[in-house]
Amino acid sequence: MAASECPVKELQEGSMCPLCSSYFEDPVTTECGHSYCRVCLVTKSGGKVVPGCQLTCPQCGRTMGWKGVTTDVRLGVTTRIARRLNLQAPPPRKQKEQGR
Ligand SMILES: [Zn+2]
Ligand SMILES: [Zn+2]
Repeated sequence: MAASECPVKELQEGSMCPLCSSYFEDPVTTECGHSYCRVCLVTKSGGKVVPGCQLTCPQCGRTMGWKGVTTDVRLGVTTRIARRLNLQAPPPRKQKEQGR
């Protein structure tokens, strides 16, 4: 992972949902430590939350129950800060990185 030269940029990139490529909206974090907007994760998993049903993490492919998905209050705060910074300095358009 390359270190970002700009902490603001780093903060903003850390506040971006990999599914919609914009700031987290009601962020949730999965059991495996990946974060998404709640809406994005639900949509990706078929459009609805079925308790007892399993979902697959879009980033690492891990399967877990919805119990393993928690609201990430901290990330919500970080995202709010990043958004405010964004008002002062628009971030460069995030480039799509393909592959690994
Ligand atoms: Zn999203
Ligand atoms: Zn994952």
